[in-house]
Amino acid sequence: MPFTLHGLAVSQGIAIGHVHLVSHALLEVNHYHVAPRYLDEELARLDEALATVQGELIGLKAVTTAGQAHSEVGAFVDLQLMMLADPMLVDAARQLVTERRCNAEWALVQQMEHLVEQFRQIEDPYLRERQADVVQVVERLVKVLLGHPGHLPPRRRDGLGSIVVAHDLSPADTIGFRDHNIAGFVTDVGGPTSHTAIVARSLKIPAVVGLHHVRDLLEDDELIIVDGTRGVIIVAPDEEIVEEYRLRRSELEIERSKLNRLRDTRAATLDGEEVNLLANIEGPKDLPAVKTANADGIGLYRTEFLFIGRDTLPDEEEQYEAYRAVVKALPGKPVTIRTFDVGADKALNGAQAREEPNPALGLRAVRYSLAEPKMFKTQLRALLRASAHGRLQIMVPMLAHAQEVDQCLALVEKAKAELRAEKVKFDEGIRIGGMIEVPAAALSLGMFIRRLAFLSIGTNDLIQYTLAIDRSDEAVAHLYDPLHPAVLKLIAGTISSGARFGLPVSVCGEMAGDPLYTELLLGMGLRNFSMHPGSILEIKQQILRADLGELAPKVQRILKMDEPARIREAVERLTT
Ligand code: PEP
Ligand code: MG
Repeated sequence: MPFTLHGLAVSQGIAIGHVHLVSHALLEVNHYHVAPRYLDEELARLDEALATVQGELIGLKAVTTAGQAHSEVGAFVDLQLMMLADPMLVDAARQLVTERRCNAEWALVQQMEHLVEQFRQIEDPYLRERQADVVQVVERLVKVLLGHPGHLPPRRRDGLGSIVVAHDLSPADTIGFRDHNIAGFVTDVGGPTSHTAIVARSLKIPAVVGLHHVRDLLEDDELIIVDGTRGVIIVAPDEEIVEEYRLRRSELEIERSKLNRLRDTRAATLDGEEVNLLANIEGPKDLPAVKTANADGIGLYRTEFLFIGRDTLPDEEEQYEAYRAVVKALPGKPVTIRTFDVGADKALNGAQAREEPNPALGLRAVRYSLAEPKMFKTQLRALLRASAHGRLQIMVPMLAHAQEVDQCLALVEKAKAELRAEKVKFDEGIRIGGMIEVPAAALSLGMFIRRLAFLSIGTNDLIQYTLAIDRSDEAVAHLYDPLHPAVLKLIAGTISSGARFGLPVSVCGEMAGDPLYTELLLGMGLRNFSMHPGSILEIKQQILRADLGELAPKVQRILKMDEPARIREAVERLTT
């Protein structure tokens, strides 16, 4: 019997495919017996994984010890390397493979559980805590083993893709879907502006999150439909339902292709006010989508996606190539590259060494960069070098303090001086801007306006921090409200202060790409919208229909309201 489950719609579109259940935790691995003739192959898999993880850790150590990176990271890497060399772990796992014919992952996890139990008995609290390191090192090994080709869902004969069903997915997991036949995904947890959701939208993978115990309700391989627009999944649909959704999917495709006619039309309101529609990207692989939408430039390049999901940091050369590729692909257009925004739900591998009690409020974004000046300066040098090839501008995320800007600017000057001394070309007049995504910054704009060349409002974080709601937690997702009067005041205040002081302001959070807010933001005075490239034409259509003369006074009235239901009703009326 077909049945329907409701969750949060985070990435539009319809996917029809077969369930691929992903275990709850990395360490809930498959258990199977290896056929005797494949035992040597299984041991070779284990040895290869071991060599890969050793290489990763040595690479990580080289990067952390080359700069003034936290020495505890170095110590943690050493400890993990020691564990990898310990016969109690790997040799014992090898024995389980040969003697009991366990698959490599299962053998490792069994031995890990045995060791953890032994650590638990130790009295010394420091040594007792080392059980966490055993778990982490085994997690690394298992991750490599699982990444081995053959473990991902195979292409199906019926032409339908796989729908990944997981408890949770990291942005790095989601990026990995690009190269596989993943039609959609659903998860137990997650919020609409989590980075996992943002990546799903950029890959155009329909997704529904926050379905609670969905994994327990589905079976591997069964047919489901993911309706990422309405936030529902239909389990075991009959042929009639599948047909209905196929039809709906092709209607969506037709609507989308009609929008393509607007590609070369300049975005301007009915009364002639021009608007820049910029793209948010995660790397050069997004360039085709930017060209398809004919974006006016890049408003947000999330560079941390070069880093996450890998264990070694890209060096200056690799970063330079990635930044230059984007700048060169968009001659004459502005390319705003954000310095790393690592931390919170975009943790670096290996950074798990430092358990943070509250990652969204911890060492994130600019705070992380300033705590790792060597890594930060490498990025600034790569950005400056790439600036020689076009209109590159640098943007710093999550500012709250004036001294953060001062320290960033000083580091930029240092990187410039080095490049001058090396006779390496860069744009001397490069513009440095900052993101307004912490309420403290939105309430003390003067100190940022005086120091920076442009501002961009990150509404995803601004809402999270204003309303004290974790953007990746589905349990509070119903309270994540872009139309909360406090949020609207902070956004409108930032836009109008920028205009007063002649500083360009953009919005690059998800609000900029949501047609529900287009008129509202236009009426607040916004002229630079930055969004996922797939949303640009839809937003352009809204702008072409908008009349600013009518909108501006209506929006001013909305900004004076403080009754949520009235605000929502008035905003919805703006779009009709
Ligand atoms: C934001 O916070 O709105 C933003 C654009 O940055 P990110 O989503 O990457 O945190
Ligand atoms: Mg942000």
